[in-house]
Amino acid sequence: MKFDKLLASLLILSLGSLALQPALAQNNIELPDIGDSTGTLMTPQQERELGEAFYRKLHSQLDISQDPEVNDYIQSIGQKLAASSDTPAQTFHFFVVGEPAINAFAGPGGYIGVNSGLILTSEAESELASVLAHEIAHVTQRHLLQTFQAAGRLSLPTAAAMLAAVLLGAKSGQLGQAALIAAQAASLQYQINFTRDNEAEADRVGMQILSKSDFDPRAMPTFFERMQQSTRFAGRQLPEFLLTHPVTVSRISDTRGRAEQFAYRQYPDSFAYQIVRAKLRVQTAANPRSALDYFKAVSGQGTKLQQDVSAYGLALALIANTRARDAKPILQKLMDAYPDQSHFVNALATAELETKSYPRAIQLYETALQRFPDNRALTLNYVRALLTTRKAQQARKLLQEYARRHPPTPEVYNLMAQAYSQLGNDAESHRYVAESYYASGQNRAAILQLRLAKKTAGDNFYLNSVIEERLKQLLAEEEERRKQ
Ligand SMILES: [Zn+2]
Repeated sequence: MKFDKLLASLLILSLGSLALQPALAQNNIELPDIGDSTGTLMTPQQERELGEAFYRKLHSQLDISQDPEVNDYIQSIGQKLAASSDTPAQTFHFFVVGEPAINAFAGPGGYIGVNSGLILTSEAESELASVLAHEIAHVTQRHLLQTFQAAGRLSLPTAAAMLAAVLLGAKSGQLGQAALIAAQAASLQYQINFTRDNEAEADRVGMQILSKSDFDPRAMPTFFERMQQSTRFAGRQLPEFLLTHPVTVSRISDTRGRAEQFAYRQYPDSFAYQIVRAKLRVQTAANPRSALDYFKAVSGQGTKLQQDVSAYGLALALIANTRARDAKPILQKLMDAYPDQSHFVNALATAELETKSYPRAIQLYETALQRFPDNRALTLNYVRALLTTRKAQQARKLLQEYARRHPPTPEVYNLMAQAYSQLGNDAESHRYVAESYYASGQNRAAILQLRLAKKTAGDNFYLNSVIEERLKQLLAEEEERRKQ
């Protein structure tokens, strides 16, 4: 018996495949306790794989922000909070979804998403931090475990689709009937059980995280109230966040009571929070015109810093309205006033690109990268400028260095594909387009691109074997999905 258990655990650890689980479940093999004390059926490795598949799946359903400045910000605030949790070893990945709806959610493997609508509804950085801390607490307190385990009985791609449907709550209708049918077929309860106890615990633990990471605990009840009030306007739906994390009057008063125990003081917002909010307001506006109207209306209001942030928003809105020429003097002034902020030089270089002043844009990127080496936004925009001016060799070299230091995103794969295409290497180009599709949950399109890569690879032995190997992996995944 003991040997069986060991064997089962070795099998799971070595294969690390969720596909193994249906067989184990049918044969009623007793699984050993691996991982935490709750006796989870899912190993950390399996949860990580499920998290990655879940994240890839989300890309095909939601507009996940590819903006490096937005990503850097949400990562930095998220990791700061996570470091103050009681399980700092847990891995977290934070990302922004470009959606006006007020929502945030936590998936397997510590993937935490927050909608731009929620960030824009917050009126202080601590309010945004309070929602992130609440989601982090759901992860560290293992509240989603039952849902993940239920998903673990399905194949990896189906499980990822099912979780995407479940965790996004109200949006599940749009997330694919197949995923929900799979969930029902496996007789899963496909609404997450956010019990009152779980919510209270996530609030309590979340508030500890907040105060330990130097954010305002009082922001939590304040933001809950604000979200609830946003529903009182005629015709507005209940924010999705409140559907999946119901906020009651007693919950707000409990949280308020606990927050009052912390001494009152001021918590100033970070510069990056304000800058990213201005940027998201332009990126998620209903149309470019309304973003321009908004920033014209608030122009000149508030403190000197708030005025400068509004000027930045106005400049971005001008660029979005194909008026980059008018944005340039505003950004030049901001850049001179804040030489230590990369956002302004980055936006100015974008305006130069938009007006086809390529040498000036490239010069700005090169100077800025000396000052901010390894800045992700500047590096990728510099690569774009190089590709626009057909300097593919230099662009490819930069991208290769970049990929060694940062996990590649679908967008980085696309830039790589562009560089290879300009260099006349079609096989590599198709291979990178395939990776971009795969990273955004579009497996069949990825397979098609790999087949095209194979056709054009010629007699390059190394490239052929790389393509062949990858094709095999993706076809196996597709087969697994079909079986389900
Ligand atoms: Zn919750």
